[in-house]
Amino acid sequence: MITLRSWLKDGWHEGTADFVTLVNPATEAPVARTSTTGLDLRGAVEYARETGGPALRAMTFAERGDLLKRMSKVLFEVRDALIDASIASGGTTRGDAKFDIDGATGTLAYYAALGQKLGTVRALLDGPGEQLTRSPRFFGYHVKTPRQGVAVHVNAFNFPAWGLAEKAAVALLAGVPVISKPATATALLAYRVMERLVEAANLPPGALQLVCGNAGDLLSYLGPQDVLAFTGGSQTGARMRGLEGVVSRSVRVNIEADSLNAAVLGPDAEPGGDTYQMFVRDVAREMTQKAGQKCTATRRIFVPQELVDGVQEALVEQLSRVKIGDPALDEVRMGPLATAQQLRDAREGLTRLQAAGARIVFGSATDVQPLGVPAGKGFFLAPVLLRADRPHDAAAVHALEVFGPVATLMPYADTADAIRLVARGEGSLVTTLYTDDRAVMEAMVLQLAPYSGRVFCGSAKIAEQATSPGAVLPSCVHGGPGRAGGGEELGGERGLDFYLQRTALQGDRALLDRVLGINASEA
Ligand code: NAP
Repeated sequence: MITLRSWLKDGWHEGTADFVTLVNPATEAPVARTSTTGLDLRGAVEYARETGGPALRAMTFAERGDLLKRMSKVLFEVRDALIDASIASGGTTRGDAKFDIDGATGTLAYYAALGQKLGTVRALLDGPGEQLTRSPRFFGYHVKTPRQGVAVHVNAFNFPAWGLAEKAAVALLAGVPVISKPATATALLAYRVMERLVEAANLPPGALQLVCGNAGDLLSYLGPQDVLAFTGGSQTGARMRGLEGVVSRSVRVNIEADSLNAAVLGPDAEPGGDTYQMFVRDVAREMTQKAGQKCTATRRIFVPQELVDGVQEALVEQLSRVKIGDPALDEVRMGPLATAQQLRDAREGLTRLQAAGARIVFGSATDVQPLGVPAGKGFFLAPVLLRADRPHDAAAVHALEVFGPVATLMPYADTADAIRLVARGEGSLVTTLYTDDRAVMEAMVLQLAPYSGRVFCGSAKIAEQATSPGAVLPSCVHGGPGRAGGGEELGGERGLDFYLQRTALQGDRALLDRVLGINASEA
């Protein structure tokens, strides 16, 4: 069993006490241990500000893009080893592991290309300038410059590689050094990623640090130029947002939290048609990929009243084919939940959904026979499909995210009713609408948008070309209002804004143009 170390101040450091043991969630065999007791986290914050920040800000966007390209490349070179680490420590199947690791390298590569596009500049202009008075000389611009602090990234257990890379890619491209803290339970993969980056990516000093284990007093050192980006449960997120130092020093905070994502089958759907099949396939995949431990997984399934029985049958047919077991086995399609606590939470959540009026129509909270696993071992939960025939009365179904292979099927009366039901989730990361009818699209898409960070429109013409609704693409924003945390990440260049200070510049146009490198003929 290895001891995970933290990469701080350009050296590896091991905790001194209070070690936590990480286990393989399929077999419960110990895989690593880690601790942050005794580590100098204050020193890490100062090192990022004093060494990492200046090193990154001395580089242009294009040069920082080159850094991201190197990071992507060196991780891709050890893809197989990272997949093995993910399977052993995260309970992921090979496919799940690729989703995480290829997501990491792909997002780094995307932001590397954006760096090239932004070019050899160190600040960004935000829109064209404006004449401010009658005099054409007195002029105003908005400029965006890197914050001179550190970006602390606190990540959830479900995407140890992508979570580290997607946040780091944007911060580093913006010119802000990073301290990344993966969730302890699955930190082995993040540790392997960091080992490789340290070994082969030629990271600028202080640009990227990693804390493996408890966050300790890390967040207490954040100040006015720093940012905190968190992904995890809404209660933890709320606690972070409310930290005394975070509030009093106006630390910029981004929260990605729980989400009761909805999939809506349009009223025009024809059973057996391409769009209907796409809907069934996507919902079954979203329920079972990563054992449903995806922030973007479908939790609520809304179907026209008259189609509910047929959809239930089709979903049960798909779910009953999913082979559950040790994800190291080729034939296994779904592994365990990540921790014993996650399994306890999911089972308790199922009880609460049933108490709210949902009934289980497939699967069980306790019965599961995983393949290739010693009897009684592992944190397995079979896919569970619930059904709530009175969705307006089933409050918990719209409020409680059961973070596992669990979703609830519900009928809706008409498009206005479907919109009302989606809104009951109080803000989601992604809402999926399946329809080929333009009138349905027009009636629904812009009404669903205010409740959703992303609206995925499934239709027959893109059934074979689209990514799955749960896939987070670096070019589109990820985040959602309300319950989903109210945050926003990625979205191409938009994601940089979190790490940049937007400043209005006012003065003599000729002087400002010179400072900003604006050619009078192009302005
Ligand atoms: P969690 O328990 O909230 O933990 C998330 C992260 O916060 C972990 O790194 C954890 O570290 C850290 N943390 C917990 N308490 C802390 C504190 N007092 N100070 C500093 N750090 C602290 O969530 P999780 O169990 O990892 O993830 C499951 C939840 O995340 C689900 O509810 C899901 O909805 C949500 N999620 C959301 C998204 C999204 O993008 N919106 C993505 C994935 C997951 P330790 O592990 O060391 O405790």
